[in-house]
Amino acid sequence: MARADIKLGYSCNNDCIHCVISDFKDKVLEKGLPEDISGEDYKKELLDSRKRADKITFTGGEPTIRKELLDLVAFARDIGFSITMQTNGRRLSDPKFATALCSIAPINFCIALHGPNAEIHDKITQRPGSFYETVQGIRNIIEIRQTPNFLSGKIVISKVNADYLAETSRFMISLGFSSINLTFPHACGNARKYFYDVVPRYIEIKESVINAIQLCFLHNVHVDVETIPFCFLPNLEWLAVELAMSDDDYAELKQYGSEKKIIDWTKKRKQIKSKFPQCKECRFDAVCEGPWNEYPKFYGHEEFTPVMGKPVKTAEEIKTREHLPQAKRSYIFKNMIDNG
Ligand code: SF4
Repeated sequence: MARADIKLGYSCNNDCIHCVISDFKDKVLEKGLPEDISGEDYKKELLDSRKRADKITFTGGEPTIRKELLDLVAFARDIGFSITMQTNGRRLSDPKFATALCSIAPINFCIALHGPNAEIHDKITQRPGSFYETVQGIRNIIEIRQTPNFLSGKIVISKVNADYLAETSRFMISLGFSSINLTFPHACGNARKYFYDVVPRYIEIKESVINAIQLCFLHNVHVDVETIPFCFLPNLEWLAVELAMSDDDYAELKQYGSEKKIIDWTKKRKQIKSKFPQCKECRFDAVCEGPWNEYPKFYGHEEFTPVMGKPVKTAEEIKTREHLPQAKRSYIFKNMIDNG
């Protein structure tokens, strides 16, 4: 199935320190365009994407603060999309709104929570009170839907929460998340402006990421990671979400205000990531995408150490864990400790 990701615009009730959208927002404002796409134009984009895709991700900015959202979700449902919504979850703290939204379609929610408590989460969102609203929003939709299967969580890693990834994962599991994604920040927008306060070095977060993964394994919660090169994921390479975004899986991204409205995201993503001279010696060179282009401009590339061993030629070898020695193919917690 093909997926379309259409950004509703750039208004948001948070202002996360790692957020990439401020660059896009500045561009549309410079062009004299409104901050958000109009409801009618969004419907046109939905109809156009439906020719190629049957899954839609509503994202932004923050989709839940758009007044036309319920109408747009109903429209997407009526033309046959299955719906995912990426949200900070704050508006879902209003039980009437959460009930109305959930009554339209069986939406899969991806909710971002960046810390285990208000101090860390609100420092990242730069909005006091956002932690309590997001947590209440999560509780509301679990109560409305009576099952957590539709709920995945996202933690964007930053210097602020890097030491709390396992603690944040533990808290999310206690709330009822059945899936957690750990994403390395892309140094665009706020993350570029405040780079040295926001973006950690990979080498600094490696242990913390592995600890959070182990915790998810222990609790039998699905976990995956995004934009973490394989040289920082020893024996855990198969958790990289990029492996699931293979060349055969069509995905398009519609970025409101951008000249090029449709992008083959799988192809484009590889063009905006970097590889290094030493990668030629690495067994993962054929499949590893490396970090976003901005990262080595700030930190260089010395910390990317080639992984020795039999060359891996296809993503499939990693997804099936064929690339691991037989004894390490199970993700039993004890093995992770021994081999990490
Ligand atoms: S190909 Fe390069 S970036 Fe990727 S794992 Fe190997 S050394 Fe790291």
